[in-house]
Amino acid sequence: MTERKDELAANLAKVEERIAAACAAAGRDREEVTLIVVTKTYPASDVRTLAELGVRHVAENRDQDAAPKAAACADLPLTWHFVGQLQTNKVRSVVGYADLVQSVDRARLVTALSKEAERAGRELGCLVQVALDAGANGRGERGGVAPDGIGELADLVAGAPGLRLDGLMTVAPLTGEYAGRQEAAFERLMDLSTHLRRSHPTATMVSAGMSADLEQAVAAGATHVRVGTAVLGVRPRLG
Ligand SMILES: *Cc1c(COP(=O)(O)O)cnc(C)c1O
Repeated sequence: MTERKDELAANLAKVEERIAAACAAAGRDREEVTLIVVTKTYPASDVRTLAELGVRHVAENRDQDAAPKAAACADLPLTWHFVGQLQTNKVRSVVGYADLVQSVDRARLVTALSKEAERAGRELGCLVQVALDAGANGRGERGGVAPDGIGELADLVAGAPGLRLDGLMTVAPLTGEYAGRQEAAFERLMDLSTHLRRSHPTATMVSAGMSADLEQAVAAGATHVRVGTAVLGVRPRLG
C-alpha cells in the first residue's frame, strides 16, 4: 500500500471503532449507522483510495470542486451526497452527479432540483436541512430552515416530480440555545424526524454528527454520520 493509503486505512479503522463503540453504548446495531466520508478539499485520488478501502458514501459541499472530482470517479461504486449551501444556478451541475442533496432548505431550491432531476430523467434523494439556530428570518447562518418550516418544505419535496423525500439533516449549531450542546441538538432533530415520519413514513434518514460529535449523534439516533477531518486529515483551508 502507498503511504496515503495506509494513513487513510488507519484513520478509517479508528472512525469505524468509534462508530461501533457508540452503537454498542446506545444499544444499537452497527448496521443502523452509515458512514459518509466528506471528501471536500481533498483530491479525486483520495476518493479512489477510499473506494478501494470499502467506502461507499462520499459527500462534497462545493459544486466547483465536486463536479470534476465526481467525473474523475464516475467508474467507482459510490453514492454521492451534496451537503453544502446550494445556489439555484449550480443545481443543473449538482444533479448531474449527486444521488442525494442533504441541504434542501427553501422552496425555490426544491423547484429547481425537481426541474433538473426530471430533465435528467433521474430520481434525486432529498433531505431537509434543519437550522436549530435559525434567526428571526427563519434561516440558519450555514443554511437550513427553522424547525417550523420543515413540514411545508417536506410536503413540497414529496410532491415534486423527480425528487424523493428521504429525511432530515443538521449541523450542530455554534450559536444559540444549542451551542456546545450537541447531544441536545441531535435529540431535537430526532424529535423533528419522529414528527415528520408521521406524515412521511419513508423519510427515515437522520443525518447528523461530524468528526467531533459523531458519538453524540449516534447516541441520539442518527442513521448517517458525515465525517471529514477524522478520515482525511485537517483541511488545508476552510471548506
Ligand atoms: C465539512 C462538513 C462535514 C465534515 O466535518 P468534519 O468536522 O471534517 O468531520 C460534515 N457535514 C457538513 C455539512 C460539512 O460541510
